Amino acid sequence: MQSKRILKLNPYKPGEQPKDRNYIKLNANENPYPPAPEVMTAVSNAILQNPMLMALYPDPNSVELRKKIADLLNVSGGVLCRTEICDDKVNASEQDKIPFEVTPEMIFTGNGSDEVLSFIFYAFFDSDRPVFQPEHTYSFYPVYAGYYDIPLKKIPLNKDFTIDCQQMISSAVEAESSVIFANPNAPTGIAMTREQVRQMLLALPKNRVHVVDEAYVDFGGESCIPLLKEFPNLVIVRTFSKSLSFAGSRLGFVVANPDLIAALHCVKDSFNHFPVDTVTQIAGKTACECPSYYAKTAKAIVECREDFSGWLLECGWTVIPSSTNFILAKKEGFTGEEIYKRIKEQGILVRHFATSGVENFVRITIGNPEQMEELKKAIQTFDV
Ligand code: PMP
Repeated sequence: MQSKRILKLNPYKPGEQPKDRNYIKLNANENPYPPAPEVMTAVSNAILQNPMLMALYPDPNSVELRKKIADLLNVSGGVLCRTEICDDKVNASEQDKIPFEVTPEMIFTGNGSDEVLSFIFYAFFDSDRPVFQPEHTYSFYPVYAGYYDIPLKKIPLNKDFTIDCQQMISSAVEAESSVIFANPNAPTGIAMTREQVRQMLLALPKNRVHVVDEAYVDFGGESCIPLLKEFPNLVIVRTFSKSLSFAGSRLGFVVANPDLIAALHCVKDSFNHFPVDTVTQIAGKTACECPSYYAKTAKAIVECREDFSGWLLECGWTVIPSSTNFILAKKEGFTGEEIYKRIKEQGILVRHFATSGVENFVRITIGNPEQMEELKKAIQTFDV
């Protein structure tokens, strides 16, 4: 009954979402804070005042939303945790200022960055040559490669868990092909500097598209948006799910040069004309108008990450320094699975990857201070 194609699929497995017990969820890199209060007000007012918004199709191209996203990037520099907050406004730090104006024509929106990534694989990668990714990075990339029948090759990380840029470059140059990676990377949490990415792009094939997934950059690291003028073949993926507390609303976007954005619109219109619903467009626009709220929550998460990482180190754990809203950590004498199970018994979910190389680690999402205190209590039982 099923197509031959479906037999080859290998679906992505997200962090578990059990409903049987009220777990503290630190396993899917969700934001512990709700969206800005203005978002809920804008959504409920809009629908109550004009219920037809629900009955009519949304703007297929999210025109106003893309303008607001461009505005947010221009004022924040694309890294919320480093912005200066003054009254209700934010200013990009010197390090993050974008030396040109990001325009709506440089933005593409979709139903979460997962969907956006799927369109990228379709639009820019072909089955006649492999795409290269670091061995450990977002585990959805190989799933899309399989879906579209695009060969994908994994390049081992360096011993210190950083991306092996030289190997990524030489492989992609030899195959005259593309690379894709998350920066900061997942699940390691390690960020490459903008200059490191720039050096990579200088060496990579100019006639191929290269993709940097910045899902976590609002919590640290440096955005590569300032490189877009120098590299018309660079595609940057971003999401509202993490720093903007929208994992349940599904909104992701791309920042790239207008020609590449036009290609993504062509894919979208051949698949689903209306990927971003009206409610999410209203919510997204309003979120972009509240940068100081989100800068504060991003800063709070970063502070909590530093506090918690320091505490874990004092407790004798190994912690990889993170620029994200999660950390990868392990404890000598325990397997990753044991750590995951022991923490779960205490009512807290963290993520364990069985993949070789990170199998003894767990990935812990940074929650709010109360949640992290509960986790500390659970972890203290390890030494008893
Ligand atoms: N990229 C990376 C690196 C991620 O970790 C995730 C979240 N699992 C995504 C993209 C997808 O996020 P979303 O579809 O919620 O925007």
